[in-house]
Amino acid sequence: MNERIPLTPPPTPSDFGFTVDDRLAAGGVSGSDGAPLGRAGTIRTPHGEIQTPAFIPVGTKATVKAVLPESVTQLGGQAVLANAYHLFLQPGSDLVDEAGGLGRFMNWDGPTFTDSGGFQVMSLGVGFKKVISMTESAHSDAEVIAKNKERLAHVDEDGVTFKSFINGDRHRFTPEVSMEIQHQLGADIIFAFDECTTLLNTRAYQEDSVARTARWAVRCLDEHARQTSDRTHRPYQALFGVVQGAQYEDLRRSAARGLAEMTGAEAGDQRFDGFGIGGALEKSELGTIVSWVSDELPENKPRHLLGISEPDDLFAAVAAGADTFDCVAPSRQARGGSMYSAGGRINAKSAGQRRRFEAIDAECDCYTCENYTAAYLHHLFKAKEMLGSTLATIHNERFIVRLVERIRASIIDDTFAELRDEVLGRFYSPEFAREAAAKQA
Ligand SMILES: [Zn+2]
Repeated sequence: MNERIPLTPPPTPSDFGFTVDDRLAAGGVSGSDGAPLGRAGTIRTPHGEIQTPAFIPVGTKATVKAVLPESVTQLGGQAVLANAYHLFLQPGSDLVDEAGGLGRFMNWDGPTFTDSGGFQVMSLGVGFKKVISMTESAHSDAEVIAKNKERLAHVDEDGVTFKSFINGDRHRFTPEVSMEIQHQLGADIIFAFDECTTLLNTRAYQEDSVARTARWAVRCLDEHARQTSDRTHRPYQALFGVVQGAQYEDLRRSAARGLAEMTGAEAGDQRFDGFGIGGALEKSELGTIVSWVSDELPENKPRHLLGISEPDDLFAAVAAGADTFDCVAPSRQARGGSMYSAGGRINAKSAGQRRRFEAIDAECDCYTCENYTAAYLHHLFKAKEMLGSTLATIHNERFIVRLVERIRASIIDDTFAELRDEVLGRFYSPEFAREAAAKQA
């Protein structure tokens, strides 16, 4: 007998968990059974817990651009989400595996997520913009998307073939390839490989796509089970299935139900540990679509809404039952000088900030607002100094993380509706806020 005895117990699904701590009593959306969909909860991972609702800062290429991991911790970031597609192209997921996984490679010891690469493969391939900003004004036609652009991605039953946006090399992503890459990257929470459609696709195309994504989801479960049993030297990774179906209630509901009950074809006891809500969402429909999906999904598993960070979207999504969110917008906008404040967005480069010797947002508790003035930020951006991006990113990420922390607290002390009206009233209507303040004075 020279069978190798593992030094640590093999990873099991019990290393991951979710508990509901409290329910959103008033101001939320109810499910078909009359119970509220919104909740505060705790996700447990091998690298620590995440108190939800939570905003997850994005570190696409294993770095939250312009800031140290210590700053992300200090601003309240509980986890970081990186991108499987970008890390596969550069530096290579095998290299990240050799380094000990994503967290160790980037010096982040908290929980990590990777998204499957499906969105990037397809969006960079067909040239559509971030789903949330799309409108239905264009023709509804499966071909319109690729009209003005060389099509870099092709979807077939087995997967997607695409050209690297870095050097034009051809690659192929399948459910199995995405699972292998995400296991090499080693994040605590990973996503099934899905086809991301747009609102411009026809209804018939959406139906085909949802069915294909379901077949891919079964393959992801099987490959995930294989990878998990082959890689017992690594902590357990939780796999989330991704609900697509665009703006169609029947498609969204049946997709969610299907994923909730799904097991692998070979791995009959492998199920999804949580769920992602992806794809085409029109802003005005966001809460409605999330509520259809939450209504169908099991209560004891977390729900991640991909790609949102606008304050009104966050309230709508939490009210409808979403638990975690990610988005590149807070850091991307920060690097452009667009900073959030309780009274709305402020452009750090605008002339009005030049002699403003006070914090960008007097109510913010971030490192930037505690130590630097709007005038200094204005100067840094005008002089194109790198520190401008760093300080602005710390502030914007803290602003959104803190907003979601406050939303969580409001669920627990039952003040959600009041918080929403106050925050959104001030953020989107500075005049309204000024009038309210004048009345109180
Ligand atoms: Zn701040």
